[in-house]
Amino acid sequence: MIEVHDLHRHFGGFRAVDGASVRIETGSITGLIGPNGAGKSTLFNVIAGVLPPTSGRVVMDGEDITGLPPHELFHKGLLRTFQLAHEFSSMTVRENLMMVPGAQSGETIWKTWFQRGRIAAEERTLRRKADEVLEFLTIRHLADELAGNLSGGQKKLLELGRTMMVDAKIVFLDEVGAGVNRTLLMTIADAIIRLNKERGYTFCVIEHDMDFIGKLCDPVIVMAEGKVLAKGSAQDIMKNEAVIEAYLGT
Ligand code: ADP
Ligand code: MG
Repeated sequence: MIEVHDLHRHFGGFRAVDGASVRIETGSITGLIGPNGAGKSTLFNVIAGVLPPTSGRVVMDGEDITGLPPHELFHKGLLRTFQLAHEFSSMTVRENLMMVPGAQSGETIWKTWFQRGRIAAEERTLRRKADEVLEFLTIRHLADELAGNLSGGQKKLLELGRTMMVDAKIVFLDEVGAGVNRTLLMTIADAIIRLNKERGYTFCVIEHDMDFIGKLCDPVIVMAEGKVLAKGSAQDIMKNEAVIEAYLGT
C-alpha cells in the first residue's frame, strides 16, 4: 500500500534519512524501531507531507504522493499523530473529536444560515459519532472532561480517537506509548488491534517498548543512522546481530 523508494532527507550536510526503502502492506500493523536519532520521525514526516524529501519517492496504492501536503493526504485517508499530543486543552474531549476537520460536511456560511435545521441534525450525528469513538476507546466517561486535564496516556487515546472521526486507511503513530502507564498502554494496544481487525486500518507504529511492539507488530522495520537495517518478525529482529549492535552502539 505505501512504498517508500530510496528516500533521503538531509538537514544541511546531515543525512537524517539516508536512502531508506520501506514497504507498508495494507492491513498490517508495521512497527518502526531504532535508536534515538535513527531518522524514524523524519521518515514519518516526509511520508505524511510535513517535510519535503531531499530525494526519493513515496507511493500510495500505485499513486505518487511525494510531497503532497498533509490535508491532501488526510483526504486520501493517510493520517499521522505526533510524538507530542496536540489537543485543544480548553475544550472537552467530546468537542475535540467533533472538531476534527473532515468530520463535518464543511458548509458555507450561507448554507449554514439557510439550513440551520440540517446543521443541528449534523451536530447530533457528530456528537453520537464522538461518543461511539469514546466508547470504543473505553473513555466514554471522559467525554465532558477538559482535554487539558487528561493524563498523557489519555491524550494519546484521544489522538487515536481523532483518526476514527474520519475514514482513515493508514495511520502513522509516533511513540504513542511514550510516558504512558502500563495499563493504559495495553488499552491503546487493544484499540489499535481492534481498529486493525474490525475496521481494516493499516498502522505504522514508532515505539520503544519492545513488549508493545512484540504484541502488536508484524513486520518490524529497524532503522539506524537514516537507513533500514533489518525487517522481519519481532522475534527475528531481536536475534539479529546488526540490530543488537546498533542498539548497543548508542
Ligand atoms: P528518531 O525519531 O529516530 O529519534 P529523528 O528523525 O527525530 O530521529 O531525527 C533524526 C536526526 O535528524 C537526529 O539527529 C535529529 O537531530 C536530526 N533532525 C531532525 N529534525 C531536524 C531538523 N529540523 N533540523 C536539523 N536536524 C534535524
Ligand atoms: Mg522520533
